Amino acid sequence: MLLLAVLAVALVVPPLSSTAPPTDSTALRDAVTVEGIMEHQEAFQAIADANGDTRASGTPGYDASLAYVQEQLEATGYYDVTVQPFLYDAFRELATPVFQRISPDPRDYVANEDFITMDYSDTGDVTGTLVATNDIVIPPGATASSSSSGCEPGDYVPASTTEPQVALAQRGTCDFRVKAENAEAAGYDALIVFNEGQPGRQETLAGTLTADDTSTIPVIGTSFAIGEELYNLVNAGPVTVRVATTTEIRRDVPTANLLATTKTGRVDRQVVVGAHLDSVQEGPGINDNGSGSSAILEVALQMAELDAQPENQVRFAWWGAEESGLIGSQFYVDSLTKREVKNTAVNLNFDMVGSPNYVRFVYDGDASDTASLASAGSGVVEDVFVDYFDSQDLASEPTAFDGRSDYDAFISVGIPAGGLFTGAEGIKTPEEAAIYGGTAGIAYDPCYHQACDTIDNLSLQALDEMSDATAHATLVFAMTQSAIEGTDKGKGKAKGHADFLGSKLRK
Ligand SMILES: [Zn+2]
Repeated sequence: MLLLAVLAVALVVPPLSSTAPPTDSTALRDAVTVEGIMEHQEAFQAIADANGDTRASGTPGYDASLAYVQEQLEATGYYDVTVQPFLYDAFRELATPVFQRISPDPRDYVANEDFITMDYSDTGDVTGTLVATNDIVIPPGATASSSSSGCEPGDYVPASTTEPQVALAQRGTCDFRVKAENAEAAGYDALIVFNEGQPGRQETLAGTLTADDTSTIPVIGTSFAIGEELYNLVNAGPVTVRVATTTEIRRDVPTANLLATTKTGRVDRQVVVGAHLDSVQEGPGINDNGSGSSAILEVALQMAELDAQPENQVRFAWWGAEESGLIGSQFYVDSLTKREVKNTAVNLNFDMVGSPNYVRFVYDGDASDTASLASAGSGVVEDVFVDYFDSQDLASEPTAFDGRSDYDAFISVGIPAGGLFTGAEGIKTPEEAAIYGGTAGIAYDPCYHQACDTIDNLSLQALDEMSDATAHATLVFAMTQSAIEGTDKGKGKAKGHADFLGSKLRK
């Protein structure tokens, strides 16, 4: 099936390089410098400093970031610059959550290590008997989603109507939102979801119920080990736990995307080059994603400076509310007419290109190396990046389209996509350290989603190499006369949705 998909693309589309005259990106790459990018990074840091150390959507730090980018682009006169406003539901935690085993054998679990409040969880403070759903699978089944714990209303033993009770469910099969809504419908006052237990599904769950969630109970995620222990205790006798969360969900908060579109070039082969502009609330977000935002801004400014005449229209996009679940880019794609979807030749995505302990990751467009949810045609995009790095004698690695960034909405409607990533909370392997340098055994970005994601949390070498690759790929797709639409666009949509919705798991 995978092989067939790859063959189909190969038959329809000869490699880009063999049909199009080679694009010489030297002038643009020379013009895009680390100094230029760091000017924008300094601006984002100053904006965060002046606005409570964050540039999260819905905050003044985001609005100032957007105004900065807008002003830079408008000054060129080269682009049509538009603000695309939208509303989203903002979630945050107002206090450190609590999870305790009261009896037997009392234990305080550590917030954000042993357990994590799910995004869009409601507020509550519940001390009650722990009740396991009927269909927990321990030891875990051989494959992911062997458990469908909590996915059907009948999975939950009807809760006591007089005493507070906490439900225990296992990850698998359906969205956490469904498990939460079923738990509440069965009468539970709080829900604990533990990871399923297979390799790669054991750590503490960082989940989201998504903004669509209608449940009103506290919901936390925990590790397989803690879930398994609690499950065994429940089978041995009564277990009492406490779950307390303090959260805020603000509905219909205004924020915006920023779009800058070249005035020339074929509109029926539009190239959308995107990066999310928002940070998390916890920090200034200079690597995530000041780096991608600054890199594409500098490419856009230098294209204007060189007065590039693109064959195909180029639209640079800075997305809002990515950190709340890819909301700005989803809003953009949802706003496109059928014709506009067809006219979008490709989406290039840059979400973290300056990680201090970096690897040169390229999205795995042909799904040859990873369980990637690629749309048809994305292999062509991957090749452009990989061939470029090869030409520079730089190694690169495939990384899955797994739903963690803004390409998601594009591939789900069949638009080819690709892009770069230098790594987040993942741990660098000794093999990677041998190839890319840096330190094995620590994260690619040790300050990922933290207050320390500042101007000091960058590899300038990563920024240099990745921004050149960004400039190159942007120009290749801007100038190509070969039909990227020959990639069966519209028929090869990514199947289903990914486990991730942005940085959080949704199932
Ligand atoms: Zn990001």
